[in-house]
Amino acid sequence: MVKVPTKLVTWDEIVEWSMGLAEVIKKSGFKPDVVVAVSRGGYVPARLICDFLLVDNLVSLQSQHWTEAAKVAEKAIIKFPYTIDLRDNKILLVDDIVDTGDTLILARDFILSEWKPRELKIAALQWISPVAKIKPDFYYIEVRDWVWFQYPWTRHEDTTQFIKRILVEEKEKREWTFNELEVKFRESYGIYVGDVYFRLALRTLVELGVLDVKDGKYLVKVSR
Ligand code: ADP
Repeated sequence: MVKVPTKLVTWDEIVEWSMGLAEVIKKSGFKPDVVVAVSRGGYVPARLICDFLLVDNLVSLQSQHWTEAAKVAEKAIIKFPYTIDLRDNKILLVDDIVDTGDTLILARDFILSEWKPRELKIAALQWISPVAKIKPDFYYIEVRDWVWFQYPWTRHEDTTQFIKRILVEEKEKREWTFNELEVKFRESYGIYVGDVYFRLALRTLVELGVLDVKDGKYLVKVSR
């Protein structure tokens, strides 16, 4: 059975954590001129940090993992490597979580060499200290046991993936009711995302051709 340690993060927690993180930054005396959101996970925290620290300038840089076909190793890449002149600016690079740290290291190194800021510091809501290759200058929560944080901005995407994984794991079962899927989801992930998101994810799986609906039951079309 799929068992992934998962924690559901609410919007309220995001506001609370971002406010807490902004407080840590403020106390340090660091006053950023420009906030850079590491896309996509850093978008919401970065916007909230701008609000709490009253910073006007917000840009973003997309750093993501790229799995090359037939290769196990993942490589982090800068998706749109544009250049801006930030020579006179102090930058705050913001992400949601430092897990491996790979994408953040790449974003930091790219900015330092291409945008040449006067100073750069890193902030993240969460830092998974045992696995991360870097420690952010500012963080709000230190995570000691690895968990998948189900952030509100990936709820639809995660729920869709999670249900898909259940269908793959239970490939003998070709027919599910809404309730059966819901119970299995809770059992596997220990969280529930709410009926609205659950139904949305199921609709997406139908649109993607993974599921079919017939007489109120979900029929598995493709098990990937
Ligand atoms: P980094 O450690 O630099 O954040 P990762 O490649 O580990 O790089 O993570 C990239 C992105 O994937 C994160 O910014 C976050 O959005 C998402 N992510 C990684 N680990 C987790 C996790 N444990 N829980 C939720 N999201 C995660």
